[in-house]
Amino acid sequence: MLTRLWIDGKSSSALSGRTFDVLNPADGRVLAKVAEGGAADIDAAVDAAVKAAKGPWGRMSARERGKILLKIAGLIRENLDSLALLECRNAGKPLGDAREEMGLAADTFEYYGGAANKHFGETIPVAGAGLDYTVREPVGVCGLIVPWNFPLVIAAWKLGPALACGNTVVLKPAPETPLTALALAELAAEAGLPEGVLNVVPGPGPGCGSSLVAHPLVRKISFTGSTATGTGIMKAAAVGIKRVSLELGGKSPNIVFDDVDLNLCVEKSVWSVFYNAGQDCCARSRMLVHRRIHDKFVEHLVARTKKLIVGHPEKKGTQIGPVISARQHDKIMGYIASGKTEGAKLLCGGVRPKGVPPGGHYLTPAIFSGTDGDMKIVQEEIFGPVAAVIPFKDENEAIRLANDSIYGLSASLWTRDVGRVLRVTRALQSGVISVNSSSSVHLEAPFGGYKGSGLGRELGLKALDLYSEVKNVFIANV
Ligand code: NAD
Repeated sequence: MLTRLWIDGKSSSALSGRTFDVLNPADGRVLAKVAEGGAADIDAAVDAAVKAAKGPWGRMSARERGKILLKIAGLIRENLDSLALLECRNAGKPLGDAREEMGLAADTFEYYGGAANKHFGETIPVAGAGLDYTVREPVGVCGLIVPWNFPLVIAAWKLGPALACGNTVVLKPAPETPLTALALAELAAEAGLPEGVLNVVPGPGPGCGSSLVAHPLVRKISFTGSTATGTGIMKAAAVGIKRVSLELGGKSPNIVFDDVDLNLCVEKSVWSVFYNAGQDCCARSRMLVHRRIHDKFVEHLVARTKKLIVGHPEKKGTQIGPVISARQHDKIMGYIASGKTEGAKLLCGGVRPKGVPPGGHYLTPAIFSGTDGDMKIVQEEIFGPVAAVIPFKDENEAIRLANDSIYGLSASLWTRDVGRVLRVTRALQSGVISVNSSSSVHLEAPFGGYKGSGLGRELGLKALDLYSEVKNVFIANV
């Protein structure tokens, strides 16, 4: 297991000599001691990335770059079992979910490997005699900062398009979950990625992450994390006019009308909020339900939720693992307490399940009813397995409640009425909408948020625009 920084194609200790403990959320034990990157290590990583851009990588054709990305995808698949186990132990994900995520990371490198030589400029019929055309060029050194909830997948969403466009990168994983990012760096080197093109520097946000954002030679920051941190990063990136894209928090609605197939809707809705123990920026944690079916929906939802198997992530059959840390656990329990204090009714969950290892951060999925729009549990992102059910009387009220949020990342809509689908999807302030489905992410389609949920769109071909400059050239016919 690689536990040191990855800079210029080699692993190295932090210049300070410091390390930090990475814990297994399943039992709270130390999983690894990892080198702790700081400002000096970021300097070294950026220097390596600047140098690599001037080396073979800078001269490589898009087709060759694409082939390296395809090789990385192949190596992820070859090492899928060990990567999945590492992600499971580090992030507390059920092993089956971790396997799916490693497959998705491989798919992402494959997609952008194929896209590398299909992203190009245009010829434009300008007035005047001559030829006008655009070319796409790399932005330069990109700083990629990722959170702990989908560690390798989100890193792949950034690395795929960044490398396809010919940039060099410094990746800063979350301090809770640096292990698969470091493993990936080694696989990328094995795939033939020249040294210095991908550098990985684990470390804390303040100090390590902030030095990356402030570094004058970093031309772009791509950040996924909380809205509060993203706001600070956007401000810091103003110095030197760094390009910035942000995938931030959410408090997404799941809107259920009274004409749905209730069994299907409940089955999918459970996963739209509780997948990954609710630690999902797209968690549809506000369940807006037409009042005619509210009571029946709640009854079914609670019954289904109580059957979810919460337990050790490596144990066969586990559907929901622990949350990432004691801190996150306490934060979630604080929200559950606040829901009760503010007068909402806790229908199930919010307790430690039986038989789980001591030291692990487990809790059963919680559902509140009797909420109102001003409660903290309705307005704030909890980032844990907590849902609030809110009744509505008609379409207009559903839309008003759905949009009553500082966020606008994902929304699900359940109805069989096509006219309503058209009206409601048009009115929702949300970057991603699924109708009669709980899915919110498709590798081939743009993903990102309205309002406080972010800036820019990842995934699909649109992501390539985030990692390239457009240069316009006019050649006069003289
Ligand atoms: P966070 O904002 O605390 O941290 C995210 C990353 O930023 C980590 O690597 C952290 O070390 C780093 N960081 C923290 N402070 C920094 C600073 N001052 N400068 C530079 N880097 C800094 O978020 P988190 O708790 O790790 O993740 C949870 C949040 O991420 C939730 O709000 C969730 O909704 C959001 N998220 C969004 C998406 C999306 O695609 N929209 C996906 C996953 C998670």
